[in-house]
Amino acid sequence: MSNLVLRNVNKVYPNGFAAVHDFNLEIKNGEFIVFVGPSGCGKSTTLRMIAGLEEITSGDFLIEDKRVNDMSPRQRGISMIFQSYALYPNMSVYENMAFGLQLKGYDGEAIEKRVRKTAKILGLTDYLDRMPRELSGGQRQRVAVGRAIIRKVDIFLMDEPLSNLDAKQRVTMRSEITAIHRKIGATTIYVTHDQTEAMTMADRIVVMKDGRIQQVGTPKELYFDPVNLFVAGFIGEPPMNFMKGTISAGGFVAEGSSKELKLGPAYDEFVNQNSGKKVILGFRPEAVERASETTRTDGIRLDTEVSLTELLGDNTNVYAAYEGIDLIFKLDPHLTPERHTKCEVFVPFESVYLFDQETEERIK
Ligand code: ATP
Repeated sequence: MSNLVLRNVNKVYPNGFAAVHDFNLEIKNGEFIVFVGPSGCGKSTTLRMIAGLEEITSGDFLIEDKRVNDMSPRQRGISMIFQSYALYPNMSVYENMAFGLQLKGYDGEAIEKRVRKTAKILGLTDYLDRMPRELSGGQRQRVAVGRAIIRKVDIFLMDEPLSNLDAKQRVTMRSEITAIHRKIGATTIYVTHDQTEAMTMADRIVVMKDGRIQQVGTPKELYFDPVNLFVAGFIGEPPMNFMKGTISAGGFVAEGSSKELKLGPAYDEFVNQNSGKKVILGFRPEAVERASETTRTDGIRLDTEVSLTELLGDNTNVYAAYEGIDLIFKLDPHLTPERHTKCEVFVPFESVYLFDQETEERIK
């Protein structure tokens, strides 16, 4: 099994574009790692360097302590599933899965055994005789996964494998892929721009922006303990609310407002020492309650004006403004305020984040 290490890895494309900067990561055997970030952040480039499809400009890539920078994809023992998986249209599901093993010279019996075992893992046993055109998008995707996992490899790389599926199929395949991962236990690196996929599938997430790692951590660590404004805003849906403002003598004053908001004892020392500092206050939509529903005093109260509400079933997204700043709250549907009314909300101190406006780093 494989233990992967990327050390000071950089990628500069031949046209001089630096796509990945000083990428450092250790991946443990069997981990499910997700690279996530906006389009162009360097996720695919990094994955392709790991696969051996793209040259590593500088730095080291080690598998089990062995430097593999110059090894071919095959020598690395890596299998990759791409965004646009192409099944052979004139071959049945069975033949599609068997093809790679035939090329490698396996005998018929060994192939049949492997195909059946893989089909069982993927729930494709009843579809082995079908042609790709007779399958749903999700089933085709499973065949593509089958073709990859039928080869016994230690490392799987997946580049946005669900992007061709509709929203419902994506949700199903998400849990199927994690279930397959649990069954076969191979180290997996999965690339997506979708933070929900990252949050639901990963053991650990690597958040990237502009070719640089922003933070590496479990979904819980990234959600509750983001290191900077970018990670805080990228992880979580709807995204974290942000209010620009200034540290005042006793707390925080939002831009365009004259009201001082207390930040609670955790920030006392910071507030005392940083009066006048430009900061950004953040809190998650789901941390918010209607002020009328709580007797708590250890939090911020905001007088807001509701502009729009969206009932989603289990909760309502409430769009509101505080002193002209647009915010979004996730509230209990039974406690949803009416549009164009005033609504006082409560944000507990423990749910308040602060960021430095200049560096965008989190202030703790
Ligand atoms: P997406 O989600 O859109 O696929 P990504 O995070 O996977 O984005 P990459 O494909 O790794 O991004 O690309 C990173 C950056 O490198 C982008 O700005 C891209 O334009 C650039 N890039 C990619 N391939 C090349 C190339 N062959 N030559 C020059 N620049 C490239």
